[in-house]
Amino acid sequence: MPQSRFLSGAAYVDGRVTPLAEACIPLTDYGYRRSDVTYDVVSVRHGAFFRLDDHLARFRASMQALRLDPGLNDGDIRAILLRLVRLSGLREAYVAMDCLRGAPKPGLPPHPLNCRNYLAAFARPYVWVMSPEVQARGAHLIVADVPRIQEASIDPTVKNFHWGDLTQALFQAHDRGADTAVLLDTAGMVTEGPGFNVFSITDNVVSTPDRGALAGITRLSVIELCAELGLRCEVRPVTVTELRAADELFTCTTAGGVMPVSRLDGRIIGNDRPGPISAALRERYWKRRAEGWHATPIDYQETAS
Ligand code: PLP
Repeated sequence: MPQSRFLSGAAYVDGRVTPLAEACIPLTDYGYRRSDVTYDVVSVRHGAFFRLDDHLARFRASMQALRLDPGLNDGDIRAILLRLVRLSGLREAYVAMDCLRGAPKPGLPPHPLNCRNYLAAFARPYVWVMSPEVQARGAHLIVADVPRIQEASIDPTVKNFHWGDLTQALFQAHDRGADTAVLLDTAGMVTEGPGFNVFSITDNVVSTPDRGALAGITRLSVIELCAELGLRCEVRPVTVTELRAADELFTCTTAGGVMPVSRLDGRIIGNDRPGPISAALRERYWKRRAEGWHATPIDYQETAS
């Protein structure tokens, strides 16, 4: 049964479970001081996780890429996430899992090898990176001046907290009266935005970049939905010229689903509202979720361990 102190969120930090507002990590942790951390976020809707195994597999791959090991297997992490959602009682939740490097052990050189890695996780009410109102009118995007950090330096397929470029892009969007931004790589190819993947639609063909971006789980879901709807979907390099000339654009993420775009750099796309294919994909995404697509139902009655 949910307990009232967990209603606004439940957290787990290195073995300790607390209400989310009380959770803390040490200031000396490299996860905080050096962004030496990886994470993943899975959503809960209608009381069920969405693509939980896909998120756990991506989280494991990210940890391995960064040589992080929290000393827990996927079954352990799954049980912790379940426990947090159960404690909160939330039917619509944003569930994050982080693996932090830790702080160097006393007396040892300040090297990441000398840290004990650990898991932090939390369940909180579902977060929309773009409000449903903005989604209904279509988001206003800009192409940011700041390029996405180079892949050779920070691998974008490893979910990370190196958000300096994405944060600058958000401020640029704000300064230009837009909702959010898309970033290009240094060669001018489309990558992704602050917390989402990007799709363009031209002549009924749906396209998304094959590089410079996270392999989003929602993006994977969109690719599957395109197949269900008989739409051609291509994962390939996307130029900014193509983006600017597209018939439709949309973005997608765990914290928002399929989010149509109606303006790019002030230019109205179509009729200044979500395009028909983007709207159909958005509708189908939520319909399939309601039907239990890729769902792992949560038993909220089970006694929390
Ligand atoms: N790209 C970035 C930089 C992100 O942070 C996210 C999600 O947070 C995404 C893409 C979308 O990924 P997913 O659909 O797995 O949430």
